[in-house]
Amino acid sequence: MPKQQLQVRFEAENVAEVYIDDVEDFSWKIKVKCGSCNTESDFIFLQANEQVEQEGSRGVTNLLYKCTFCSRSGSIDVDPKSYKPIQVDSAGQKYQPLITFECRKGVEIVSWDPVGAQGVSCKGSSGTTFEVDLSEGTEWSDYDQEEEQSIGIYKIESQLVKV
Ligand SMILES: [Zn+2]
Repeated sequence: MPKQQLQVRFEAENVAEVYIDDVEDFSWKIKVKCGSCNTESDFIFLQANEQVEQEGSRGVTNLLYKCTFCSRSGSIDVDPKSYKPIQVDSAGQKYQPLITFECRKGVEIVSWDPVGAQGVSCKGSSGTTFEVDLSEGTEWSDYDQEEEQSIGIYKIESQLVKV
């Protein structure tokens, strides 16, 4: 079964770890591509705890996608067990695996947009936890009272890799 791993990288300021509060409940804002005609979708949302019936009673899936151009359908599942919190390496700027998706019948994820994501948190270098507010864009910053220093995440980038 074709799998795609989402890898992320970002610039971090005084952040030790970035994590998702509840990966089952997290909403992934993605664009997908049809394997038959290569048409890309608009943003769609995918969640591990969402269950829809597969066509022809083949069990349940997290997302059924039907291409708006050629009507071919495929499905995508989140693998919550593959999720790994991001440990911030002082070297930084390296892509790190975050989660893996299983894509069936030719449908492929082309991109993930973190803007608007809810339920993302981080741990500062003092160990204090912060909610990472991404409602305004791919940047977030705050002030770590414990360490008396600013804290932030900037320039979030991601890529999808076949695994
Ligand atoms: Zn298509």
